[in-house]
Amino acid sequence: MATTTGTLTYDVFINDPPPQDGVLPNGEPKRFSPEASTLIYGSEDAVLTDPPMTTAQALALGDWVAAKGRNLTDIFITHGHGDHWFAAGPLAERFGARVVASAGTIAQMHANVATRPLLWDKVYTGIPPTPVTATTVPDNRFTLEGHELVIVEVGASDSDDTTVLHVPDLDLVVAGDVIYNGVHMYLAQAAIVGGFGPWREAIDKVEALEPRHIVCGHQNKQLDDDAERTIAETRRYLDDADELLRTQTSALEFFNAKIERYPDHLGRTILWIGASVLYGARQHPDQDIGRIILGSWL
Ligand SMILES: [Zn+2]
Repeated sequence: MATTTGTLTYDVFINDPPPQDGVLPNGEPKRFSPEASTLIYGSEDAVLTDPPMTTAQALALGDWVAAKGRNLTDIFITHGHGDHWFAAGPLAERFGARVVASAGTIAQMHANVATRPLLWDKVYTGIPPTPVTATTVPDNRFTLEGHELVIVEVGASDSDDTTVLHVPDLDLVVAGDVIYNGVHMYLAQAAIVGGFGPWREAIDKVEALEPRHIVCGHQNKQLDDDAERTIAETRRYLDDADELLRTQTSALEFFNAKIERYPDHLGRTILWIGASVLYGARQHPDQDIGRIILGSWL
């Protein structure tokens, strides 16, 4: 379903998760969360956000983009997590597009490349070569057929140095992993930054942009993109997490309690990893947090 305002339009493609080995504590197979990419387009040109992770996903997304019949000028990346850009290379090459991100995101992209052999390549196959080719743009702004696209830096949310893309002429924010929609949130970052305070501030910054529509990096394709609802639900998810961290004594109890409260949410693998990190950090305060995170993913 495409949404049109003036001469710009946007549409969302949601990729299926790549294959993955292993099962969750409740016996379900481990699967990554659905990954959303947004195409913002005018009559001739287009901008794509958050390309996915694997070559197969890039092919599926690329065919969808090609069918729109627009000239892809830029690929924008909201934050450094590999699931939002590892497949940028094949798409940039296919369409001759520039890759754009904030300076903070580019630094995080390099850090994610460094963790490829330790984490990403141990869990997923088919990730293409990932040279960091992204460039910054002056004043964090670029344009699409004369319409302004603004990169807004919102600080830490589910990772460090995250951004959102504000498209004022569409009343749209492409929110990366700052806002979620019907999908379990990746909570591990709270173990690094000491709670959900920075994430709540990031949500406030999105709300201050007064969008009507929000596309989330991870969303259930059955749900709409209503900004008010997704912001409220994202806040409530963090409030629930704080409450459950007080009342539940183990990662497994937390995992089960979240599923009971959010039975229809997708992405239980990410829920389990986040819970494992948060309780791992609590139970082993002397252990390096990077090792706890790696152990929770593998
Ligand atoms: Zn993500």
